[in-house]
Amino acid sequence: MHDTALAVDATLWLNSFSQALERRDIPGALTLFAQDCYWRDMVAFTWNVKTTEGKPDIAAMLTATLEHTAPCKWQLGQVSGSRSGTIEAWFTFQTSAGHGEGIFRIENGVCVSILTTLQSLHGHAEPLGAARPKGVRHGADRNRETWSEQRSRQEAAFDNGEDPYCLIIGGGQGGIMLGARLKQLGVPTIIVEKNPKAGDSWRNRYRSLVLHDPVWYDHLPYIPFPEHWPVFTPKDKMGDWLEMYVKVMELTYWGGTECISASFDEAEKRWIVHLQRDGKAITLRPTQLVFATGAYGPPKFIELPGADQFAGEILHSSRYRDGADYAGKNCIVIGAASSGHDVAVDLWEAGAEVTMVQRSPTTVVRSQTQLDLAFDIYSQVATENGIDVDRADMIAAATPFGLQPPVQRELTERIKARDADFYEKLAATGFQLDFGEDETGLMMKAYRTGSGYYVDVGASQLIIDGAIKVKSGIAIDSLTRTGMRFADGTIVPADVIIQSTGFQSMHEVVAGIVDRATADAIGPCWGLGSGTRNDPGPWQGELRNMYKPTAQEALWFQGGNLALSRFFSKFLALQIKARMEGISTPVYQTPF
Ligand SMILES: Cc1cc2nc3c(=O)[nH]c(=O)nc-3n(C[C@H](O)[C@H](O)[C@H](O)COP(=O)(O)OP(=O)(O)OC[C@H]3O[C@@H](n4cnc5c(N)ncnc54)[C@H](O)[C@@H]3O)c2cc1C
Repeated sequence: MHDTALAVDATLWLNSFSQALERRDIPGALTLFAQDCYWRDMVAFTWNVKTTEGKPDIAAMLTATLEHTAPCKWQLGQVSGSRSGTIEAWFTFQTSAGHGEGIFRIENGVCVSILTTLQSLHGHAEPLGAARPKGVRHGADRNRETWSEQRSRQEAAFDNGEDPYCLIIGGGQGGIMLGARLKQLGVPTIIVEKNPKAGDSWRNRYRSLVLHDPVWYDHLPYIPFPEHWPVFTPKDKMGDWLEMYVKVMELTYWGGTECISASFDEAEKRWIVHLQRDGKAITLRPTQLVFATGAYGPPKFIELPGADQFAGEILHSSRYRDGADYAGKNCIVIGAASSGHDVAVDLWEAGAEVTMVQRSPTTVVRSQTQLDLAFDIYSQVATENGIDVDRADMIAAATPFGLQPPVQRELTERIKARDADFYEKLAATGFQLDFGEDETGLMMKAYRTGSGYYVDVGASQLIIDGAIKVKSGIAIDSLTRTGMRFADGTIVPADVIIQSTGFQSMHEVVAGIVDRATADAIGPCWGLGSGTRNDPGPWQGELRNMYKPTAQEALWFQGGNLALSRFFSKFLALQIKARMEGISTPVYQTPF
C-alpha cells in the first residue's frame, strides 16, 4: 500500500478510536478491534504492567480505568506497513496523569494489538533538552555553593540519617538504571550494594565472561555506549562503565552496604530497613523498597547424594572465578545452559579435563546467527536508519508476549535451517538439543524461566571436537570420594564439581530479608504462566511481579538483562514518582 493510503487508514482508525474513548463508548471502541486482540499497557491506563487479551478483557479494563484515565489529544505519528498488510502506527496521547506514547497495529481496518505507555507525569517532566539545568548562577555571590559542594551536602544529608523516599537493595545494573531514572525524576533514592564498588557484580564473575548480547541491545538510559564501543562488552569493561555511570549520573550509591532485614510499618506506611554499612549498623525508613538483588534470585543447588564423602570441592557457578586454580584437574560442570558452557570453556582454556553433565535439553543458538537474525531492530543498520534504542524498545514492546510464540517459532525455523550442519554435529555428540517444547526457541525460554539456553560463543565447537565431554540424559547416582557415579554405573573422576544449576526466584530474597509470609504472599517472580516446563500457568501475559505493584504494598522488583532493566526501569520509576507526588494511582488488577 502507498504511504499516503497507510496514513489515511491509520488516521481513520485512530480518530474513530479516540472519539469512542472520549465519548466513554466502550462497545464502540471494541468494534474497532479484531476478535483476537491485545492491549498492552505500561502504567498509562492501568498503573500496572498489564496486557489484556480479547474483547471481553479489554472491555473490563476500560470499564475500570477509562473514566479516571480520561485519555485525550491523540495524535498520529509515523506510519509504516508490512507486506502482510499490517499497518503499524505510532501515536501520542494525554491522560489525566501525564503524557503517553504508543503503537497500534491494524489489519483489514481493525486493531490486532495496541501498546500504550506513560512517558511522563504532568508537571514532573524530566529536565532534559531545552529544560536542562543551567548549571551555573551568574553574578557575584559571597555564599556561592559550587556543584561539588552541593553534591557533598546532598550526600552528607543521607550520611547523617535523612531517609530517602526510595531505597533500592542491590546496586547491579538493574538497581543502577532504576536509580538513574529516579534521580532524573527528583525522587530521593539510596542504592545499597554489598559489594564495595558499582560494577563489582560483573567484575566478580568468571574471568573470561563477555556479554552475550550486542552493544545495540545493551545501552543504559541517558548515556548510550559510544560509537567505538565493542559489539560484545567484556565483563570488567561493563563493570567500569557501571562505575562511571553511577558517578556521572550523580547517584547516591552506598557500596559495602548490606541490607540485613526490613519490615513494613503499616501505621506509618514506611519500611524499617536494617543495614550494615562498612560494618556499622544503620536503620533507614524509606517509603518505597525495591529489590534489585539479582535477576534470578539466590543460587539454586541440587542435592548430590554422597557429597559428605567427596574429597574434592563443590561450588556454585556464581562463586566460580578463574579456571587457573583447576589447571590439570578433573572438573565436572553440572548444567548445560549459559553459565555451564562458559565455565566449561574457562576451565578448558586453563588446561582442566572437563565433563559437562546435562540434565535436560538446551536451546543453543550461535552468536553470529543470533546477531544476524534476531537483533534486526537493535543493530548498526537500524541505528543508521534512525531506530535508536528507545525506539527499538517501543517496537519490541508493541508485540505482546501472547503474540510472541508464532514470531519466535518462525525465527527458530530460520535458525535451524541456517545452522543445520552445526546442530547435526552437536547432536551427534549426545548433547541434547531442543528449541523449547513448542519450538519457540531461546527468547521464550528467557522470558518463561530465564534458563535452559546458551548463545554459543565457542563451547559448542569444543563439545563437537570432544574437548569438553558431555554426560547427557543419565541421572547422577551419587558422589564417590574421587568422582561422580552415574545411574549407568560409569564413574567420572572429579577434583571439583561446579553446579551451574541456576537461581531461585527473586521472591526468595524477600523471605530472607522481610519474612516468609510476605514472600509467599507475593509469590514467584519472572515467568509468563505459559504452562510449559518450569513456567506453570495460569497465563499472566506479563512477567510475574516484575516492575509493577506486588501483593506487598510499597515493595517492588527490578532486574533482568540490560534491555529489560533499561525499558522497564522507566515505568517503575514513574510509578514510584507518582506515589511520591500523591498522584492517584488506581492499580488495575493487582496483584501478580
Ligand atoms: C554468563 C552470563 C552472560 C550474560 N550475558 C548477558 C548479556 O549479554 N546481556 C545482558 O543484558 N545480560 C546478560 N546476563 C544476564 C544479566 O544481565 C545479569 O545476570 C545481570 O547481572 C542482572 O542484573 P541485576 O542488577 O538484576 O542483578 P546483579 O547484577 O546480580 O546485581 C544484584 C546486586 O544486588 C546485590 N545484593 C544482593 N543482595 C543484597 C543485599 N541484601 N544487600 C545489598 N546488596 C545486595 C548483589 O551484590 C549484586 O551486586 C548474563 C549473565 C550471565 C551469567
